[in-house]
Amino acid sequence: MKTDNIKVLVVDDDVIERKSIKRELTLKYSEYQVMEASTAEEAFVYIKNMSFDVIIIDYHMPQINGIEAIINLRTMAHLKHTAIVMISNNNDEQLMLDCINAGAQDFLLKSDVTENQLARTILQSRKRHELELQLQDSYQQVKHLAERDKLTGLHNRYYFDEALTRMLAYQKRTPDELIAVILFDLDKFKHINDTFGHEVGDKLLVAASQRILKILRGDELFARFGGDEFVLACAHLKTIRQIKGVIRRLTKAFTTPFSVDGHYLYCTSSIGVAISPINGYTGEELLKMADIAMYRAKKSSQKRYCLFEDNMQEAFLRKYKIESELRQAIKKNEFRMNYQPIVDVNTNKIIGAESLIRWPNGKTSKSPGEFIPIAEEAGLIQVIGKWVLQEVISYISNLLGEKKRDLYISINVSPCQLSDKRFTAFVESLLKSYKVPASSIVFEITETALLNEDATTLEALTSLHELGIRIALDDFGTGFSSISHLLICPINIVKVDKSIIQHITQAYSNHRSMLEGLAYMLNKLDIRIIAEGVETKQQAKLCMETGIELIQGYFYYKPVNEDDLYLLLDKVEEKTVN
Ligand code: C2E
Ligand code: CA
Ligand code: CA
Repeated sequence: MKTDNIKVLVVDDDVIERKSIKRELTLKYSEYQVMEASTAEEAFVYIKNMSFDVIIIDYHMPQINGIEAIINLRTMAHLKHTAIVMISNNNDEQLMLDCINAGAQDFLLKSDVTENQLARTILQSRKRHELELQLQDSYQQVKHLAERDKLTGLHNRYYFDEALTRMLAYQKRTPDELIAVILFDLDKFKHINDTFGHEVGDKLLVAASQRILKILRGDELFARFGGDEFVLACAHLKTIRQIKGVIRRLTKAFTTPFSVDGHYLYCTSSIGVAISPINGYTGEELLKMADIAMYRAKKSSQKRYCLFEDNMQEAFLRKYKIESELRQAIKKNEFRMNYQPIVDVNTNKIIGAESLIRWPNGKTSKSPGEFIPIAEEAGLIQVIGKWVLQEVISYISNLLGEKKRDLYISINVSPCQLSDKRFTAFVESLLKSYKVPASSIVFEITETALLNEDATTLEALTSLHELGIRIALDDFGTGFSSISHLLICPINIVKVDKSIIQHITQAYSNHRSMLEGLAYMLNKLDIRIIAEGVETKQQAKLCMETGIELIQGYFYYKPVNEDDLYLLLDKVEEKTVN
């Protein structure tokens, strides 16, 4: 606080009072520089053009009441460091308190004004104001810490939740307006973090948040929830089209790479949107729905964003239920294995069987097509997969030990099992302890396992292949079938998906022509081919004519339990195709 050249503005319509204050201050103290204003207007002209350390203002002015005057002065940013002293003839305590509450630092009765008293009041009010400002600053700092995300400076979850609640309450007054809660995260952020380190990851988060700030209008709520998850809440929207406009700008923000520490990082984002009042009324509901929608967007290969739809909630709940039932099923050992024979059409002999998991007690789901992907996502497939391996390999051991049989059992393996470095060693130890030759098992993998092009997967496949285990490429013809996988990976068998087989009997079927070409090519590559999902005699016949000799499908056998496979192997039914 400076103590020389203290600039004071005295505002009083009573000229005698004004002059007397000026005199009291300037006669004895040389450090005071005093200006006078007789009206509020005049005072505001001074204030606009000059800075003051203290304003002494009379409570009773002709056009403006003292409290209003203080409030007006306190809204002026450049008066932040100016102390205000109110003077009045009115000895009313309440009035005094009201002035202090409105932002004055002191209140002085005109009858008490003496030169000493005035100087003391000025000193004290300046000191008080300085302390108030310091307190306010530290309050702001604490508030900032509590409400802001440290890394990006955006609001944090705590602030967002509170502000969204206020936004939603306000919306009740304007029921025709929409509020969009837009949740998004950065795809493959973890990968970037792992590859380039956390420092680069953090800088990417800052760069992304800054880029997004640039595309916003300014009245949105924008927060980081932690990790790579961000959220936007936009109010005053009238149509879904407007919401899509925001999403479009958001997606566009991610189209160019981020330059961080000399790396050009391409990074897309997955966006989930929930809209009030269409989807929900509370912040909690909307965030949950946006989360479900974001999850959908992430799963979809084409869509970068997803708006919440009612049936998602149902699907989400179903999935959640299945996941918790799966956890119980693992503990209670509720899974069983079935086996579906694979037949050589030339001899009608069973040359192998595919092991398929069953969950007889499954309450919400019994279909592995549904519960296996859920187990994969929930990270439960490792435990289930280990159980399957153990169960099937011990079964083969019995099957082969009992009689000399020439057949193999195939086992479905999920991509996440293959990316576990200990997988091959585990399989090898099982084969050893059950004395099962590697040639009696085949691992079925889908193309999604190969799509990641992750080195561990390829290594695992190669080492399994070296052990003597054959690899089958499952569900060929769905999704991303790529010939290059057949050349790069050690594939011995291709299983043509049932969706293709279903179409081959139609007249002029493209599927049939494709199958013919495929069979020809695979024969050349010395890869065996199995037609899956053959349900009719006609389909089986066409497969044969196409050059496919191995068939798996209801036309021959449905999946059967362990005991029934024994029976089947002993009594191979005659099934003629011709
Ligand atoms: P997938 O590997 O393609 O298995 C073939 C599916 O087709 C089986 O369904 C089988 O019952 C069914 N199927 C066989 N013949 C026919 C037919 O003629 N017509 C029709 N419409 N369907 C036929 P399932 O048992 O429901 O299994 C579904 C999927 O679940 C499997 O598809 C596989 O991806 C997965 N799965 C099953 N067991 C396991 C397992 O032990 N581990 C892993 N990771 N996945 C498994
Ligand atoms: Ca399979
Ligand atoms: Ca299949």
